[in-house]
Amino acid sequence: MIRAAKEWPERLLRYQEQEKILSGRNSYSKTDHDATFMRMKEDGLNNREFKPGYNLEIATNNQIIVSYGVFPNPTDSKTLPDMIRGIQEEYGKSPDYLIADAGYGSEENFTFLRNAGIEAVVKYNMYERLRRRKPLKRPFTTETLHYNSKEGYVVCPMGQRMELCRTGTRISKGGYEREVGYYKAKNCDSCPLQGVCNGESGDRIVEVSREWREQRSAVDELLETDFGRKLYARRKIDVEPVFGNIKHNKGIRRFTLRGKKGVMTEIGLVATAHNLRKMIISILAPKAPSYA
Ligand code: SF4
Repeated sequence: MIRAAKEWPERLLRYQEQEKILSGRNSYSKTDHDATFMRMKEDGLNNREFKPGYNLEIATNNQIIVSYGVFPNPTDSKTLPDMIRGIQEEYGKSPDYLIADAGYGSEENFTFLRNAGIEAVVKYNMYERLRRRKPLKRPFTTETLHYNSKEGYVVCPMGQRMELCRTGTRISKGGYEREVGYYKAKNCDSCPLQGVCNGESGDRIVEVSREWREQRSAVDELLETDFGRKLYARRKIDVEPVFGNIKHNKGIRRFTLRGKKGVMTEIGLVATAHNLRKMIISILAPKAPSYA
């Protein structure tokens, strides 16, 4: 007790210093304060370990890297606005379309893209799962329920209309405000699906964002057209081969420099070499098959 009392000013200073280094993150590496512990993709032995690293994002156009960035957050969805702002600053304008996988498909990102005048060709999290032929593991989650945006009601698994009972606002960690509605079913206690659908006594209430459901419908409509499908398919032949080329063909799977500045320099050199090679190939052999 006496020892703790003696040590607390020193400990407090140490904790304050660590908080400063963390800057909102939940971990950092002692040997590289900018690196955050993340679950890595599997190694040669199929292990997925926590290691200090950076989330590398690249934007490409016809397999040319047009922008890149490294981020401390392992999830892709939070990196999109910063990447777009980087492109806007660098090129003085926004791209017409943004093609990205479901990891980027959040309400916050769709709203950001709409406000920036960019057409989102981005799948949302449940897009594939809702279209799979095999039954869903959790078939009654809110995301699976049909929302009628014209009349503003949700359809419950028994086909009942769940009416709006109140509204609210949700604020994300990044400060994005979502307007949500709460929709309530009736007579759930006498429903045969009560145990699997509601899981508790009383009438089920679900939280639905009208904005999110409308964004999802817009994606559904776009990806049902030939134009949308062709655009989305470009992801596989544009950005993915670039990652494949850098990581697999060139064997660049880890950074050798430390600190965000060093890592940005390193990826800048890699991107320059990649782009030069692409340009030289397109001049010398314009019809050669493109695998990045
Ligand atoms: S438990 Fe309620 S919400 Fe679920 S299916 Fe039955 S009536 Fe609908």
